[in-house]
Amino acid sequence: MDIKKVYMGRSVEEVVRLLGEYENKAKVIAGGTDIVIALRNKVIEPELLIDISKVEELKGIKEDEEYITIGSITTFTEIVESEIFQSNLYGLHKACKMVGSPQIRNKGTIGGNIANGSPAADSVPPLMALDSIVTLLSIEGTREISLEDYYYDSIKENELLVNVKFKKPKDNQVLTFAKLGLRKALAISRLTLSSFIEFDDNIITSIRVASGALAKFPMREKEVEDYLLGKSLNEETIEGAIEALRNSMDERLKGRPTLPYKRIAISTILREILEEALVFEKGVKAW
Ligand SMILES: Cc1cc2nc3c(=O)[nH]c(=O)nc-3n(C[C@H](O)[C@H](O)[C@H](O)COP(=O)(O)OP(=O)(O)OC[C@H]3O[C@@H](n4cnc5c(N)ncnc54)[C@H](O)[C@@H]3O)c2cc1C
Repeated sequence: MDIKKVYMGRSVEEVVRLLGEYENKAKVIAGGTDIVIALRNKVIEPELLIDISKVEELKGIKEDEEYITIGSITTFTEIVESEIFQSNLYGLHKACKMVGSPQIRNKGTIGGNIANGSPAADSVPPLMALDSIVTLLSIEGTREISLEDYYYDSIKENELLVNVKFKKPKDNQVLTFAKLGLRKALAISRLTLSSFIEFDDNIITSIRVASGALAKFPMREKEVEDYLLGKSLNEETIEGAIEALRNSMDERLKGRPTLPYKRIAISTILREILEEALVFEKGVKAW
């Protein structure tokens, strides 16, 4: 690694000013679990590395009447240990708990997971299913974009990801998550799915499903959503949802060598997230 300068950022204002001054020659480092590899392999060679791991304004999980807001340098471990992500937000807890190893979870941050832009970022499908909004700050000002749009209008070189927020769930809504990795512990996920479902008298009255590693970026699976909306969950509709997802994957991944494997694998994890939602809806398990 040949970094000219490393600076310990103290405030959001200062970090944003430096990002503006250095234009595309500065990079922020949060937990370092992704960027250190990129630096070592000389994929990136910034003049200035700004360490944001001690910036207070970027830390922690906050709750108000309407929103839950996660500061960008909140680690996976902090999310796993938070009481907020139990009960009907358990899907985010599960996603963060399945990231890498304890060391990676202690260091890796939610902001780094989003900003790195990997199609296999584990926290992104549940955050996308929650219809999250990302706050980005630069010397030009603040912009808020939905996580779904983020991959088409991604973070700019001079922007700092400040937080990610989503509406607090109602009692009849539940977030679920499942992951299929090549190796259990340290696998960068090969396939992930997350659903956020609202039930009213057994019927799905609102649904968002998001996938990871089924396309260039994590994305919403609208065909599955359209198929399940207005139905109740049972063996027949779960099979129907799997078929809907397979049809849409056939189009999207046409000609890819991974398609046959993904077609089979997807049924296991789609079934898992829908059955978890069903368990919640039936109130069989204490959440
Ligand atoms: C062995 C190993 C196993 C892993 N397993 C998994 C896994 O199972 N699932 C998974 O999803 N990921 C996994 N990862 C990837 C990684 O740990 C995550 O993506 C992590 O969330 C990155 O966060 P970080 O704070 O370490 O980011 P960093 O490495 O510090 O930064 C990553 C990128 O994001 C930018 N960035 C970081 N924070 C901000 C911010 N606030 N504003 C603007 N830009 C920012 C940096 O400039 C850099 O480009 C693994 C990595 C390793 C090395």
